[in-house]
Amino acid sequence: MLISSNKIVFRRITKLGRRLFHCSAVSMADLSRVKPVVAVVQMTSTPDKEATFAQLSALVTRAKSRGAAMTFVPECADYVSESRDQAVALAEPLDGPTVSRYRDLARTLGMWLSVGGYHEKPQASSKETNRIYNTHLLIDAEGTIEGVYRKIHMFDVDVPGGVPCYESSYTIPGSSIVPPVATVCGKVGMAICYDMRFPEMAVSLAQQGAEVLTFPSAFTVPTGMAHWETLLRNRAIENQCYVVAAAQVGRHHAKRSSYGNAMVVDPWGTVIAKCHDTIDICIAEIDLPLLHKRRTEMPVFSHKRHDIYGHVLNNTVLPVDSQSEYQFGPHVVKSTSTFYRTALSVAFVNRKPVVPGHVLVCPVRVVEHLVDLTAAETADLFLAVQSVAEVTKKHYRVSSLTVAVQDGPDAGQTVKHVHVHVLPRKPGDFPDNDDVYKHLEKHDKNVAPTEWRTDGDMAKEAAVMRTYFNTQ
Ligand code: AMP
Repeated sequence: MLISSNKIVFRRITKLGRRLFHCSAVSMADLSRVKPVVAVVQMTSTPDKEATFAQLSALVTRAKSRGAAMTFVPECADYVSESRDQAVALAEPLDGPTVSRYRDLARTLGMWLSVGGYHEKPQASSKETNRIYNTHLLIDAEGTIEGVYRKIHMFDVDVPGGVPCYESSYTIPGSSIVPPVATVCGKVGMAICYDMRFPEMAVSLAQQGAEVLTFPSAFTVPTGMAHWETLLRNRAIENQCYVVAAAQVGRHHAKRSSYGNAMVVDPWGTVIAKCHDTIDICIAEIDLPLLHKRRTEMPVFSHKRHDIYGHVLNNTVLPVDSQSEYQFGPHVVKSTSTFYRTALSVAFVNRKPVVPGHVLVCPVRVVEHLVDLTAAETADLFLAVQSVAEVTKKHYRVSSLTVAVQDGPDAGQTVKHVHVHVLPRKPGDFPDNDDVYKHLEKHDKNVAPTEWRTDGDMAKEAAVMRTYFNTQ
């Protein structure tokens, strides 16, 4: 059913639901009983930050009065500039006054906010002094920032009928997809506007568990007329996710207008809420049990033929301490010994290195042989090795590495879990170059317990390596 913002249809919200909408931490069991209401904002930002915030605040407050547990605000939530220079000049850092106002608003209303696309000034220490980030924030009902995504696809286009735009001339592209964030309306995957044209990103978020995909936007009129709804419905259908797309609408200043049509699409591809051509909000219920029913009835993700067309890999670097320990064959590796991690691979320091800097990279899943890895694990493992190799060379100031996999006991594999040894090599470090393999064979055999490195020692080395990956 289409819920127009002008003819808002309130579905029955249970008392339990009303209580839950005021909480930031809601369990899946709770979500299976209530259908959280989300509100989607359609607004017209201008170069005037004060007036733009006043407009945003009024719309979000209205959303609260209509029972929204979470409100989604579009790209350029803070302003739409008249020039490239103005876009950069007005930007503020993450801890600046505008983000503080968003956080206060969320806290005061007791409501989650998705602020999709504010102009973020990089930290003072950044080498980039003349460009900013296009940043999407998720803020919980206590005002805490729960997710920060920096737009990765730059809108560098010159479309007939539109004004040429070179976003990368003033925007630094982000470098990672952020794992979905658990919110009051399910697991939210963060994207921004032009990102919707890259189905691989939506697939990556869905593979990581997203239930709601968000595309806060400031779509141009010609591209909006041609593609907006089709793209959003496609992303919803092929990923069996809700799609929530807040939008800028109308004339921002003499040179720029936006298409509008903010909407919510359900996992079946039906537009269930939509704004029209004015400043407004629309609301919809998020029915996660229905979403999971659809996925069970038509399990497209398990029907994929990765063996034929490969995988969408997600090799975003994750925080290593998100779990306290990792399995390495029969051994347990403390997270303090690890320094790099993706969804599928982990790297950690060695408890008996052959040379200083000898580290190991392995799949997170315990897999004995190389041939037992999935295509995604294989690709991710070797991309991880590549990243670790680069950092190892830099940190140990070497130009060469030994990178070795012993597959099976006859090849010297003692730990039954595929792992890649990465060792920095220096001129003359062994009498003969390949002596390294003799040492690899013997270094961890018949070792007295006192000869293993201590956890503290290993943590120190891992901490240094973490600084290169920003995985503290
Ligand atoms: P391989 O003999 O090729 O199976 O190599 C096993 C490697 O894992 C050796 O370099 C060991 O020193 C290392 N190792 C074994 N257990 C641990 C552990 N708990 N933490 C770190 N490294 C380990």
